[in-house]
Amino acid sequence: MREAEVDPELCDGCQDCIEECVYDAVALIRVAGTKRLKARVDPDRCCGCNACAPACPVHGIVMNWLGRPPREEMHAVCGSRAGY
Ligand code: SF4
Ligand code: SF4
Repeated sequence: MREAEVDPELCDGCQDCIEECVYDAVALIRVAGTKRLKARVDPDRCCGCNACAPACPVHGIVMNWLGRPPREEMHAVCGSRAGY
C-alpha cells in the first residue's frame, strides 16, 4: 500500500495533481499568514494509485510505502526488472 505526500517546499499550488486525482484526495490549503496555496493529500482518501506524482511539474509529490507492499506489486516490480 502506498500513499502520496506533497513536499510543501516544492509545491507551487498549480493544481495539476488535483485534476489527476479521481479520488478527490488532494486539496489546496492556504499557507497561514499568506495568500499562497499548497496541495495537501488526505491520507484517508488516497489509495496510492500514483496518478498525481507524474503530473506534478516540480516533482513535488512522493509515494510512501506504508508497510510491506502487496505480493502482486512486488512481483510486478521484480518481473519488470528481470525483463519478464
Ligand atoms: S496517489 Fe492517487 S489517490 Fe492518492 S492523491 Fe495521488 S492521485 Fe489521488
Ligand atoms: S501538481 Fe505539484 S506543484 Fe502542482 S499543486 Fe500538486 S503538488 Fe503542488
